[in-house]
Amino acid sequence: MEFCEKCGGIIKVEGDKAACASCGVKAKKRPKIEASEKINQQEKIEVIKEGSDNVYPLIAIECLKCGHKRGYFWTTQTRASDEPETKFFKCEKCKYTWRKYR
Ligand SMILES: [Zn+2]
Repeated sequence: MEFCEKCGGIIKVEGDKAACASCGVKAKKRPKIEASEKINQQEKIEVIKEGSDNVYPLIAIECLKCGHKRGYFWTTQTRASDEPETKFFKCEKCKYTWRKYR
């Protein structure tokens, strides 16, 4: 907990703003290294997500939603050999994703 330099009141933190709860004086918030690291991690994840479409092969499949004739195709990794494999399809045009059990 932090205290106001002026009146000794408790510093209230809201988002990235910090101010004294009793006199209203704005306080400097200590930079948090943890927070900035988290943001960097999120950015990294999004970059991977964006490029993931290119990994899947495009096949001739009719979209259940818009009727487009091409879509991306991939399957889930099976945990057990007797478990049915799930096929995933994603429309190239409208990005609608659906799955099919074998
Ligand atoms: Zn579609």
